[in-house]
Amino acid sequence: TWSGVPQGPPDAILGITEAFKKDPSGEKINLGVGAYRDDKGKPTAEQQVVQQNMDKEYAGITGVPDFGSAAALLAYGPDSAPLKEGRIAMTQSISGTGALRIGGAFLHRFFPGAKAIYIPTPSWANHKAVFSDSGLEVKQYRYYNKDTIGLDFDGMVEDIKKMPKGSMILLHACAHNPTGVDPTEQQWRSISDAVKEGGHYPFFDMAYQGFASGDTDKDAFALRHFIKEGHQPCLAQSFAKNMGLYGERVGAFSVVTASPEEKARVDSQVKILVRPLYSNPPVHGARIASTILKDPALNKQWLGEVKGMADRIIEMRALLKENLEKLGSKHSWNHITDQIGMFAYTGLNAEQMTKLAEEHSVYATKDGRISVAGITSQNVGRLAEAIYKVKG
Ligand code: PMP
Repeated sequence: TWSGVPQGPPDAILGITEAFKKDPSGEKINLGVGAYRDDKGKPTAEQQVVQQNMDKEYAGITGVPDFGSAAALLAYGPDSAPLKEGRIAMTQSISGTGALRIGGAFLHRFFPGAKAIYIPTPSWANHKAVFSDSGLEVKQYRYYNKDTIGLDFDGMVEDIKKMPKGSMILLHACAHNPTGVDPTEQQWRSISDAVKEGGHYPFFDMAYQGFASGDTDKDAFALRHFIKEGHQPCLAQSFAKNMGLYGERVGAFSVVTASPEEKARVDSQVKILVRPLYSNPPVHGARIASTILKDPALNKQWLGEVKGMADRIIEMRALLKENLEKLGSKHSWNHITDQIGMFAYTGLNAEQMTKLAEEHSVYATKDGRISVAGITSQNVGRLAEAIYKVKG
C-alpha cells in the first residue's frame, strides 16, 4: 500500500542534536536548538495548579477562558482599544505552531481576495510548511542583508510596496528567527505605513515576547503600533520560550476585528475550524500560564525571570564579541550585539559551520545561526576561539 511513499528528509535542527549526542568530546557545545532552561517561577505556579486539585474535564473548543483573557492582555496591553471594546477573537492553541496553523486555515477559508501570504527571507523554517499545508500560496519578501548581517530595510519596504494590493504579510513581532535582526521602532513605523498603503493584511508571529528586550511591553511595540495605526492584524502567540513551557504546548491565536458583532462571527468560525482538527486544547499548561499571568506575585517574579533570561543573552552576545576581538579577529562582530533574542546570525557559511562541528565540536545549523541560550561564561572563550579558527 505504501510503496509509493518516498522517504522524507530528516528535520535539520533535530539532526544537529543527534550529531551532538554522538560526539564524545567533553567540551562539545550545542547551539542548535532554541531552548532556555533556567526558570524557577514555573514550578511554583504548577504546584498551585496541582494543589487546587482541578478536574480533567474538557476545556471548551477555544480553551481555558482565564488563559485566553490573560494572554490577550499580555500581548495587546491594558490600553488596547480593541481589547477594551471586546473585539478581539481569541482561541487557545497548540503552542505557536498551532496558532499559525489555525490562522493559516482561517485565512485560507475567509480572507477576501488572493490567498498568498508573504514571509520574510529567511524565516523560521516551519512557516512555509505551515502556511502551504493550510492551503495558502507562500511568497517571500526581502528581509536580511547578508552583506551587513542586518536588516535589508529598503528591500523590505520596496517588496511590501510591490505586493498586489490586499496581500497577507507575516511579520515576526520581535526577536526574528533565525536572524535575530529586528527593525527599529522608527523602521516599524515606516513598515506599518507601507503595509497600510498597500492595503495589506498583517499576521504577527510573536513567539518570543519578553525574550528580546526583557520587557514584555517593549517587545509588543510593533503589534501595538500597527493597531494604533488602524490595522486589524491577527496574532500567533507562544508561551514555549518565555515561560519554558515547551512541551506543554501553550499558545493562542487571535484576530482583531472591527466590532464585537464581527468578533462573535469570527469566533464561531474559528470554533468550526478547531473542532474537526483537535476538538479542544489541553488544559494543564494553559492553567500554569494563566496562574503565572494572573497571580500578582508570580507575575512579578516571572517578569523578573524573563528579564534575567534576556539580560543573560545580551551579556553572552557582548562576551562573545569581546572574546573574538581579543583574539584579534579582523572582522566586525557588531552584528552579534546589534541582533536580539535567542538566536544570533554569525555570518558564517555552511562550510565554516561544518568545520565548527567537525573540528571544534560546536554544533549549530548550517545557515550560521547559533542559539545564544546555549552560550555560558564557561564555554564562550572556547566558542570564540573555534569561530576565530574557522573564520579568522
Ligand atoms: N514562530 C517562531 C518564529 C518560532 O521561532 C517558533 C519556535 N521555534 C514558533 C513560532 C513556534 O514554536 P512553538 O510551537 O513551540 O510555540
